[in-house]
Amino acid sequence: MNALAHQRLFERTASALPPAEEIDRALRDAAPAEIVATALRIVGREHLALVSSFGTESAALLKVMTDVDPAIPVIFLDTGWLFEETLAYRDTLIATLGLCDVRSIKPSEATLSREDPDRELWFSDPDACCRIRKVEPLARALKPFRGWINGRKRFQGGLRAAMPVVEQDGERLKFNPFANVSRQQIEAIYAAANLPPHPLAAKGFLSVGCMPCTSRTSPDEETRAGRWRGRPKTECGIHTVKMA
Ligand code: SF4
Repeated sequence: MNALAHQRLFERTASALPPAEEIDRALRDAAPAEIVATALRIVGREHLALVSSFGTESAALLKVMTDVDPAIPVIFLDTGWLFEETLAYRDTLIATLGLCDVRSIKPSEATLSREDPDRELWFSDPDACCRIRKVEPLARALKPFRGWINGRKRFQGGLRAAMPVVEQDGERLKFNPFANVSRQQIEAIYAAANLPPHPLAAKGFLSVGCMPCTSRTSPDEETRAGRWRGRPKTECGIHTVKMA
């Protein structure tokens, strides 16, 4: 982004956030670190969070973030159905990267008791299961923030193939610093920083979510083919439902 574009964006942030389309135009070809740094400046230090699944590629974005500011809060949705390996990987990355504000968010116990007392909702109605375990808890967790960062990539395909770098998400700005990043670039970040892999990556899981809805992926499949296998569902909802 050139200096004049920077100045114009920041002159307007005192009272209101600039339009997402304008920031997206300015950051369309920017490197991930510049996108994170710009998000921090536009939204403000107290009002920006990063949402991470601590999945197979998550360490790359967390590394970029810590290089910019390790104090950015990291929101982690602990659905109650995660692999033990993912919980261990979260703790490994907290120690490895020096993450200082990871917030593990759980679903409401009252909602679970009311809507999924037998823990079978993932099978009978996965959209409802994702709503009570991911979408609603994230909406609550994001209430204090005016902007959030996430790690989706266009190469993951589906609805992600055409996403912008910056978009409006209800009243918030949503930053996608890895929108343009390739799998090879992510591997390069892991290699350069000697980042530990997710424990399930070596066991054939290219993408890791909740246990009942995650399966191994063969080399000729897309990254997220193992998620909700055999169902039309491809997204949990946190990126398709506007956060209130
Ligand atoms: Fe439930 Fe599966 Fe969604 Fe996890 S990914 S919240 S288990 S439906």
